[in-house]
Amino acid sequence: MEIRIAGTVRESVVDGPGLRFVIFAQGCRHRCTGCHNPGTWDPLGGIPVKVAELLNQIKNEKLIKGVTFSGGEPFLQAGPLARLGRQVKALGLDLITYTGYTWEKLLTLQLEDQGIKELLLVSDYVVDGPFITEERDFELPFRGSRNQRIIDVKNSIADGKVVESGFS
Ligand code: SF4
Repeated sequence: MEIRIAGTVRESVVDGPGLRFVIFAQGCRHRCTGCHNPGTWDPLGGIPVKVAELLNQIKNEKLIKGVTFSGGEPFLQAGPLARLGRQVKALGLDLITYTGYTWEKLLTLQLEDQGIKELLLVSDYVVDGPFITEERDFELPFRGSRNQRIIDVKNSIADGKVVESGFS
């Protein structure tokens, strides 16, 4: 099983709390004005990498606190990313998934897409929503615009409403 990626960063401090291994998924349909990385839009761009190879790279990073799936749009490759996510969690690492979809849209999509459901549920946090230039805020930790929320997945599912995370 492969994931088409735009690239990876082995030790990031800007894609969630702590030192993190980041996978930038290739392919995005959101086409946000002001997107910082339009090179990730083409679903046929980037390079395909086996899930097992990505897991090996993650295992080699002994100092990381967690893994972040960013993009591009990770939920376009939800099935293989969910599989990798489960293996990441089995290593004792936490998992953050960025998405241009809103939480509410994902809850609708996951009703008809098992991969989306699995990626949603395996993620500890989802940072949701498109980048909106008018909402841009350079002071925000770990996100680009004020509409984007850091959502605690487990508590949001349990409470039946969005529970935003305190990490900052
Ligand atoms: S969701 Fe992210 S990668 Fe996709 S267009 Fe928007 S800012 Fe760019």
